[in-house]
Parts: sequence; C-alpha cells; structure tokens
Amino acid sequence: PRLFNTMLQLGVRTVNLSMGPVLKDGGELLGALLVLRDITREVEADRLKTEFIGTMSHELRTPMTAIKGFTQLLSMGGLGPLNDTQREFVTTIYSNTERMIAMINDVLDITKIESGSVELEWRSLHLAEALSGVMAELKGLISERGHELTISIPPGLPLVRADAHRLHQILFNLLSNAVKYTPKGGKIWVEAYEARLDELPDEVRDVVDQGRRYTQIMVRDTGVGIAPDELPRIFDRFYRTENPLKIEAGGTGLGLSLVRPLIELLGGRIWVSSTVGEGSTFSFILPAAEAGK
Ligand code: ADP
Repeated sequence: PRLFNTMLQLGVRTVNLSMGPVLKDGGELLGALLVLRDITREVEADRLKTEFIGTMSHELRTPMTAIKGFTQLLSMGGLGPLNDTQREFVTTIYSNTERMIAMINDVLDITKIESGSVELEWRSLHLAEALSGVMAELKGLISERGHELTISIPPGLPLVRADAHRLHQILFNLLSNAVKYTPKGGKIWVEAYEARLDELPDEVRDVVDQGRRYTQIMVRDTGVGIAPDELPRIFDRFYRTENPLKIEAGGTGLGLSLVRPLIELLGGRIWVSSTVGEGSTFSFILPAAEAGK
C-alpha cells in the first residue's frame, strides 16, 4: 500500500492532500481515503516565524561584530597591555563571539533555505581548488588532533557545476565533522571520482537525472561512528548523537541540517554509512559541468 501526501495551492488557500488505500484485514482493496485539509493559516504562521527569525538573526550580527572587533583590539594590546588572566578572558570572549556569529549565520542560512531565497551563483568549479580553501582553514585543527589526511582526486575529473560559497560550506562542514568526531591520531580520507549510477544507493539513483554526469565525493573517517537508530536523525536541526567526543567537539547540530538542503539545491544528494567505534563515510554527488560550460 502506498500513501500519497502533497501540498496544493488552490487560489489563495493552501491545502494538504493525503491519500491512501483502505484495505480489508486480508489485504483486499476496498477503496481509497482522500483527506483535504486547509492549512493556509499554518503556512502563513510558519512564514511569519521564518521572517521573524531571519530579521532577528540579521539584526544580531551588527552588535556581535562590534563586540568581536573591540575584543580583538583589546587582545592585541591596542588599549594597553593585558596581564595573563585578562588575556585569557579576552581570548575566551573572542572565541565565544566567533561561535555566536557562526551560529547566527547558520540560522540565517536556515531561514533562507526555508523561504526559498538562497541565491546561487552557478560556476564550473575545480573540486581540488574548493578543497584547498577548506584545507587552509582546517589544517591547524587537523595537525592539532594529529590526524592523517589523504586526499585523492583523479586527474581529468570533470568540473562540478555549483556555487563556490555553498560548496565550500558543504565541504567545510563534512570535513570539520570528520576531524572533530575522530579520536586523536585518526585517519581521514577525501576521495572524488565520477559517480557510477549503478553503484548509487537506490533512493539516490531514483532521483538523479540519468542523462547527466555526476561527481561523487566521499569523506571517510576512523571516528566514533553513528548508531543505526541515530543515522536517520543526524540531518535534523540541533540533533547531536551520544558519543564520546560530543562535549569535546562542541557544535550546535545545525551543520548537517544545512548541508543536506544545500546539496539538494545544487542538484545533488547526500547519504551516509557508519559503524559505531569504526568510523563514518559521508558521500554526496553533484552534477558535473557539461563540456564547454
Ligand atoms: P555539530 O555541530 O554537532 O557537529 P552537525 O549537524 O554537523 O552538528 O552534525 C550532527 C551530529 O551528527 C553531530 O553532533 C554528531 O553527533 C554526528 N556526526 C556528524 N558527523 C559525524 C562523523 N563524521 N562521525 C560521527 N558522528 C558525526
């Protein structure tokens, strides 16, 4: 039996439509049940909430940026020398301000995704170039944690058709997760190759455009892993799994909830496989650039 659920716009009203078969105990089909529900008010309330959060996040950025700037000035000794305790406190204020700004930016991105107002600048991009930007930001953390990182991108890999800023955000999130959720001295691999449609998971193969080429990118680690019952939830907002590195890693549980819709906006899909105590593999595909574009 298949259930069907969708939203319809009927003039000014939004309607939720659900349809499902009605079966006898023995499985014999009696007919179908169709439920139409007017959800105009709910949709409007949701839109107002998204708009409110969007405006709030935007407004919060201005004072946060001022706090960050003045804290930086203090820590550089611009207003006179600091003693060790003062410097330590100012550094803590600075890093927490940075975290707060990153959180506000994530929330702002979520509201953009929800309201369908993410603006994409489509370009043909070298994956190696996108990765090197991410590596520059993460290399300190990787060496601090003593991880061994292997990147493999075959020569001649087609360019990807994407938005540079969003691709950076996706790679940064996946790679920084691999770094954070892998105990010190672990291994991380980033591999890219042309996707083979027959090797994709069923649910991904069903939705890709069979007529085009895709690049597959895999971020694999020897980290804490994710339990099977938690796997479907890691892309939910604020969801964080129970794991030995949860506290040390910090984080908000917003990263993956942004990564998935961003990949889908770029015409790709993401999936994950993982074993607790052994590691995780996050794989995603993005459309390859057509020749000459
Ligand atoms: P966070 O800010 O907590 O890192 P994310 O949305 O990026 O948020 O990830 C959600 C959760 O998924 C994490 O809190 C962690 O429990 C789990 N997770 C993500 N990546 C990995 C990984 N590479 N290995 C193990 N667990 C991971």
